[in-house]
Formats: sequence, structure tokens, C-alpha cells
Amino acid sequence: MLRLTELKLPLDHAADALRPAICQRLGIADTDLIDFSLFRRGYDARKKSAITLIYTVDCTLRDEAAVFKRLDCDRNIGPTPDMAYKVVAQAPADLKERPIVIGMGPCGFMAALLLAQMGFRPIVLERGKIVRERTKDTWGLWRRNTLNPESNVQFGEGGAGTFSDGKLYSQIKDPNFYGRKVLEEFVKAGAPEEIIYVSKPHVGTFRLVKMVENIRQNIVDLGGEIRFEAKVDQLLRDNSQVVGVELAGGERLMSRHVVLAVGHSARDTFQMLYDAGVYIEAKPFAIGFRVEHPQTLVDHARFGPNAGNEILGAADYKLVHHCKNGRAAYSFCMCPGGQVVAATSEPGRVVTNGMSQYSRAERNANSALVVNIDPEDFPGDFKKNPLIGMDFQRHWEAAAFVAGGGDYSAPAQKIGDFLAGRPSTAPGTVEPSYQPGVRWTDLGSCVPTYVTEALREAIPAFDRQIKGFAMADAVLTGVETRTSSPIRIKRGADYQSINTRGLYPAGEGAGYAGGILSAGVDGIKVAEAVALSMVNAEKNL
Ligand code: FAD
Repeated sequence: MLRLTELKLPLDHAADALRPAICQRLGIADTDLIDFSLFRRGYDARKKSAITLIYTVDCTLRDEAAVFKRLDCDRNIGPTPDMAYKVVAQAPADLKERPIVIGMGPCGFMAALLLAQMGFRPIVLERGKIVRERTKDTWGLWRRNTLNPESNVQFGEGGAGTFSDGKLYSQIKDPNFYGRKVLEEFVKAGAPEEIIYVSKPHVGTFRLVKMVENIRQNIVDLGGEIRFEAKVDQLLRDNSQVVGVELAGGERLMSRHVVLAVGHSARDTFQMLYDAGVYIEAKPFAIGFRVEHPQTLVDHARFGPNAGNEILGAADYKLVHHCKNGRAAYSFCMCPGGQVVAATSEPGRVVTNGMSQYSRAERNANSALVVNIDPEDFPGDFKKNPLIGMDFQRHWEAAAFVAGGGDYSAPAQKIGDFLAGRPSTAPGTVEPSYQPGVRWTDLGSCVPTYVTEALREAIPAFDRQIKGFAMADAVLTGVETRTSSPIRIKRGADYQSINTRGLYPAGEGAGYAGGILSAGVDGIKVAEAVALSMVNAEKNL
């Protein structure tokens, strides 16, 4: 098959314009194009009045060799790579041991699904509840100010991204097309097919919930077992080899292959691992606020007269500013047409994040606006205490809880007031979407001074890219601390912990992913490493 990239058509092109455009570009007659499929559809919105769609298509031709020969030097033409996923191992019929996967987030469920597909009948242990029950608990915080520390936005079936915008793209290098495998499994589980080819796919919260249930069923149908409200409390070891885990209730499950996919909020589990001697190091992350603007403002800034176009959808943005104080301020996890959500997993703390539905039809655009933090910023020696970044997060989350009034309302400030250095006292034209509500205040007490300084410098700079970004009534809500894991549980080339054999640290919590897609990809990589190790171990028995 032949892959043609950078095929540009106007935004308003006719539905049947692609086929003739391919033929014209390849210099072939219509009858010579047997078939084609979309690999990618993106857009170029640099010229707002003339936005173009950019296609990558895979074509089956009557005489492929002739076209390759004629267009030999054309850098937008080449062979379609083999993207089909191939399993690396098959479990023996008399499997003597089942792998354990801790965590049913995207990393854990992709690892479990892959292991199940290879016949290893994994046991998944998830501290939270099944997704429908979890939804009720999560709404309990949003609607009734009641947090369940074991069942919330961070913990439960589907992991941290279940109540999210469901953005499914990543900038990781992916030469083996594992990302495509993740997307294909998501489509099988009910995601819209377009996620395979649009350049910035998203699925939104409602669909994610259904997908997660279908993936669970798929794992079970393949012989896997999934246990909820099963928090892993201890790692069982024989010297430096993992031999099993102990649950909070005291039950023990034995296995020499344990995938640790606990996400970035499992602070008690990080502490347990550290106390057990598993090698952990501190790593950088970022903190700041959520910002909310009218979605129409972002749409017009990005798409001009094409704002509201159905193909383009609600506009997003990605902004970076390098500040005079040496920090980088940037937007992160932008959710078009969505809402700001309460995302704490610990009592007495306030954490923000963002979500949306597939339609992205809510009034406000929201995004994290964060500043990078290095381990050197932590108040203490991160080499002696690698968990200190976690304490740092807790400190600012507790400060936000206090500034919000102590009932899980979030502290908020209008951008005009934030830039002028005065507290806000009442909302303006942009209504904050955070539930259970906001308290107008000065956000300065919720982040270090260098973060406030950096954001005060960055917001006017962002206004030059998104006209209106610095609008006085735009809302900042605090505090965004869970941007990525504050630690890395270091692993070797075999994906095992560098000092604990049989333990496979994976996904975002271990510091090897950031986002749903990359966590899923890491789950696949780790599942392959586990499968190969188990097959070799069985051979040697
Ligand atoms: P997690 O998803 O965090 O899953 C870890 C799981 O482990 C959890 O279910 C937890 O309950 C369980 N667990 C923890 N400790 C234990 C234990 N001791 N025993 C048993 N189980 C345990 N990313 C995107 O790419 N796109 C988005 O649009 C997006 N939006 C987001 C919106 C919100 C509100 C949030 C919170 C996150 C969002 N993210 C998004 C980030 C994304 O969700 C994470 O990057 C991703 O979920 C990480 O996957 P993971 O499997 O590594 O960890």
C-alpha cells in the first residue's frame, strides 16, 4: 500500500472531493485507485480565513510500483508501514502463575487486556469501585461536598482519566504503533471510529465510562479476573524478588510478576513502596491554576470567520512562555467546551482538573495554566526524601482548601484582579464551572510566589496569541497540582524495578507516562515484558 501525506483540501471541500484529489496528486486515473483509507486528518488554521484540512491517506493502487518509480523523490509518498499489532508471546496451556496488575486505569487495563489476549489470565486489583458506583461517589464531592477518599476522580475503575475530556493524543515516540493498538481497542469498546484518524481525538466522559465497562468485560471474557475495593497495602518479597501482594484486608495473593500501575495520586502506596525499599526518585512536575474563558472567545481567536465549523469543533490552544525568573509557564490539558472539576483524593485538600463531554458544548473553555517545579524547589533534601514532592503538593492543596473556605469549594480570582494583585470579591461575565462552587479571593496564598510571578508575566504574553486571553473577567481556580507524578519508580531496560525483581512500575504514577494514550501504550510495553519473562520462567522450571 502507498501512503500519501500532506494532501491539502479547503475546509469546506465536498464530501467526495478526496478521491479525485488523491488521483490528481498521484497522477493516476480514477480506475487506477482501487481503494483508500484515512490514516490522519488534521488542519492548518494559521490563516484563519482560509483554513485547510490536511490528509494522510493509505492507497491501494492498480500499479503501485509504477507510481513509486515515477514519484521516487516525492517526500510525501512512501510505503504504508505495517501497523498491525502482533503479540510477542503466548501463555503455556498449563500456566502455573497468574500475573497481578495493580490499578485499573488506562495503563493497568491495557496491560491486563494484553496479558489476557496472550492467555495469561491476569488478576487486576483496583482500590476503587466499578465505574457506575464510582460515578455516584465522584458526584458526591461535586454536588454534596462529600469526599470518598477511596472512590473519586482519581481512584476507581477507569483510573484518573475517566471523568475527563478524554483527549487521546500524545507526543511520545511510537515506532511500533502501540498508540494505534490502544485506539483500536478503544473503538472495539465503543469509542467513535474517528479517533483512529483525527489528529486530536477525544471521547469525553460519558463514552469513556461505557468503554471502560466494555474493556473490563473483554478482560473477564479472556479469563482475567478484576477485583474492586481491593487496595494493595503491602508488597511481599523474597529478598529482592516480589512474590506477591497483601490487600488492605490482609488477604495475600502470590505472584512473581506484579505490574504497578497505580497513577500519580496513590500517595499512600508510594509511601508503602518507599518504606519497603523500592527504589524511588523525585521528579519535576508543574503547578498552577485552571483558567476559564468563554469558548466563543477561543473559537474566534483560533478560527476567525470559521469559528463554529463542525469539522473543526470547539477550538483548543497550547501556549508556552519562558519567563524572566527562569520558569516556563504553559497551558496543559486544555478542555474545550468543558468544565473545571474537583479532583482531590485526600480530605482537607482542593485540587482542580478539567473534563468535557464528547460534544464539547459547554459555555467555557478551560485549561491548566501551570509553571514548572524542579526537585530543587522542594523545601528539603529530595535526595534523602524522594517523596518530598508529594508533601509539596499536599501543602499547596491544603492552602487551596483553606482559601476556598474549608468545604471543598475552590479559591478563585478573576484574571484582571490577579494581574492587578488584588483579591476578587464577585464574579464577572465568566461564570466559573467548578462544583461544588468557588470562593472569590486572592490566589497568591495557594502557590509559591515564583508561580504567581511567572503567570502574571505569561498571561499578557498569551493574550498576544489568543486575543482576549487576558480578559479581566476570565476566571482562575486553584490549585492544579496533579499535573504528573512527583516521583519516578525507576525501572531497567527489562521494565522491572531496578532493585525489586518482578515488580513492573508502569504508567503515570511510576513516571513513565502522561495522559491516557501514553499510559495505555506503557501498559502494552509492560505487558509484553511480563509475558516474555513469564514464558522464559516457565521454560526454566
Ligand atoms: P491512573 O489512571 O491514575 O490509574 C491508577 C489506578 O490505580 C486508579 O484507578 C487507582 O484507584 C488505582 N490504585 C492506586 N493505588 C492502588 C492500590 N494501592 N491498590 C489498588 N489500586 C490502586 N489525560 C489525557 O490524556 N486526556 C485527558 O483528557 C485527560 N483529562 C484528565 C482529566 C482529569 C479530571 C484527570 C484527573 C486526569 C486527566 N488526564 C487526561 C490524565 C490521565 O487521566 C492520566 O494520565 C492517566 O489516567 C494515567 O493512567 P494510569 O493508568 O497510569 O493511572
